[in-house]
Amino acid sequence: MRETPYYSYVVGELPEGCKYCVRGEKLVLFVTGVCPRNCFYCPLSPWRRKDVVYANERPVKSVKDIIEEAKIQDARGAGVTGGDPLARLSRTIEYIKALKEEFGKKFHIHLYTTGILADEKALQKLYDAGLDEIRFHPDLFEPNSKFLQREIENMKKAFDFSWDVGGEVPAVPGFGDRIKWFASLLDNMGGRFLNINELEFSETNLRNLLTRGYRPISDESSAIKGSLELGLEILEWGEKNTSLNYHLCTAKLKDAVQLRNRLIRMAKNVARPYMEITEDGTLRFGIAEYEDLEELYELLVEEAGVPEEWLYINWEKKRIEMPVEVAEELADAIEGDVKFYIVEEYPTWDRVEVERIPLN
Ligand code: SF4
Repeated sequence: MRETPYYSYVVGELPEGCKYCVRGEKLVLFVTGVCPRNCFYCPLSPWRRKDVVYANERPVKSVKDIIEEAKIQDARGAGVTGGDPLARLSRTIEYIKALKEEFGKKFHIHLYTTGILADEKALQKLYDAGLDEIRFHPDLFEPNSKFLQREIENMKKAFDFSWDVGGEVPAVPGFGDRIKWFASLLDNMGGRFLNINELEFSETNLRNLLTRGYRPISDESSAIKGSLELGLEILEWGEKNTSLNYHLCTAKLKDAVQLRNRLIRMAKNVARPYMEITEDGTLRFGIAEYEDLEELYELLVEEAGVPEEWLYINWEKKRIEMPVEVAEELADAIEGDVKFYIVEEYPTWDRVEVERIPLN
């Protein structure tokens, strides 16, 4: 077992889909929130557990939105997720085909599924559409699961196709034996890898996790106590007892590496000339807020002498955007009700603001 430069751990080789993901090159394609299961650790918010489609943070109305988002990210592949994408199979097929058509065969696509709906016909369609890698997430953590047997039977069928078959499960403390059982099964079937995620809480699953006795490792982290340790134990065990490749994907990897790399790729494509790209991939620029934006614009151009190319009226956010230095100078020079700030935003579709510093 070795530690990777991305704060994760690996036995053997990193799964192909993960190689793209850590570089921030994977578009996250959320095909539907519909899922036949109801895992107690499901992190999806109630508004995502519906039949909605997102490409990264962008709500999707048509395939065009997906292609546009992939271009902005300069994506080299996609991870098809949900819910269970197979709960909306024809939509999933349509999107995989469209991405392969637009970006070529090498655009690497992997898909997560419970396996419940992965019958021969569905698998054949996915394979024909060009899917490169399929990851099974069976119902290991529910005693007497009514799904598990069917999921495992369907997983067997996936080995009739020449794509990478692997597993992906969270490291839920207390369930080490179940995960090892699944790893052995996958190994005996000829599986390629098992990706284990450090368990994290979200607003949605927090109550469920607390009720079952799970606790976050600290006030600053969403990772669950004991999950990383369990993941490491399984990797050590797996190295000795199976020939699978393993990857233990940590909360830190998702946050500090994968997200940051994706933001940097996106920032390069969406930054306007007056925006700085920070080393975290956020956009930093100055803004002025005032009730009457037209009046403010005129004041800045005609009275303060700011060149028009340095100013951008953002009607949606009701503000004028500009380089940081210009906002700093204007904040000193202009008196009255105009408020100047330096802001930092994600370059994502939803443009989450992560920092705001008042200048006057
Ligand atoms: S399989 Fe995934 S999407 Fe479905 S309920 Fe479980 S965690 Fe949520």
